Amino acid sequence: MQRTRRRFLQAGVAGAPAAVLGWSAASAGAPKVHYAELLPHEFRKRLAERPIAYLPVGTLEWHGEHLALGADAIQSEGLMVECARRLGGIVMPPIHLGPDRARLLEDGKLLVGMDYATSTSPPRQLDGSCYWVPLGLHVMIVDAILTQLKRAGFRAVLADGHGPSRTSWAESLQEREARFGLKLFGVTKEIAGQWKSQVDHAGRNETSLMMHFRPELVDLSQLSPDRSVRPLGVGGEDPRDATAAYGKECLEKSVELVRQMFAKAGLL
Ligand SMILES: [Zn+2]
Repeated sequence: MQRTRRRFLQAGVAGAPAAVLGWSAASAGAPKVHYAELLPHEFRKRLAERPIAYLPVGTLEWHGEHLALGADAIQSEGLMVECARRLGGIVMPPIHLGPDRARLLEDGKLLVGMDYATSTSPPRQLDGSCYWVPLGLHVMIVDAILTQLKRAGFRAVLADGHGPSRTSWAESLQEREARFGLKLFGVTKEIAGQWKSQVDHAGRNETSLMMHFRPELVDLSQLSPDRSVRPLGVGGEDPRDATAAYGKECLEKSVELVRQMFAKAGLL
C-alpha cells in the first residue's frame, strides 16, 4: 500500500506540467536561472560567468478571451529563461506593474490601453486588466532596480515584454546606460523588424508563444469559430491560426537575435 502510494507520488511529480512545478523543475537537468531560486554561491558563480540580468516587464491585462491575463510576463520570462540557459545570466522576477495610454472619461471612469484600441468597439473597460501605473512611476521602479542590479555586480541588462514597457525601456537605453554605467539591451527600432516575440496583442504571435510555453493557459474554444467574427481586444494576425510550433519558431528567432546582440557587445 505504502509502496503504491510512493510510486504514485513519484510518477505524479515526474509527469507534472510546468504550471505545477514552475520553470526550473519543468526541464530536468537545465541550470537554475531564476534570481529568486539561487543560493548565494550559485548566484556568485552565475554572475561571475556572465554578469547579465534579464528583466521581464509585463502587466496584467486582457489578452482576448482565449489567453491568461498574465500572458505578457509569461512570454517575456519564458524567452529570458531560454536565453539564460543557453547564453548565461540570471532572470529577475517580472515587474507586472506597467504603463499604458490612459483616458479619463467624463463619468470618472478610466480607460487604459486595449480598452480603446480599434479592436475594442465601442471602447469599454476590458475584464481583468489590472496593475496599470503611470509612466513616471514605472520609470522610477525600473531606475531603482537598475541601481540595485549595478550594486549587485551585473554589467548588462536585457528588458522586454508588455508593449508600452518595452517602448519606454528602448527609448531610454542610451540615457540610462550613461547614468547607471550598465550595458542595456532591448527591442529598439533597429531590431524591431527582426524581433519575433510579443509582436502583436493576443494575435497569432502571442497566442503561439503561449501555446509553446504554457499550453494549459490557452483556450481557443473561447473564440468564435466564425472567422468573420473578429476577436475583441485582439491585435495582429488571427489567433485562431496559432500553433505551438510557430511559437517555438518565433522564440528561436528572438533568442538568436539576443545572442547576436550580446556577441556584438563582447559579452559572450
Ligand atoms: Zn501581450
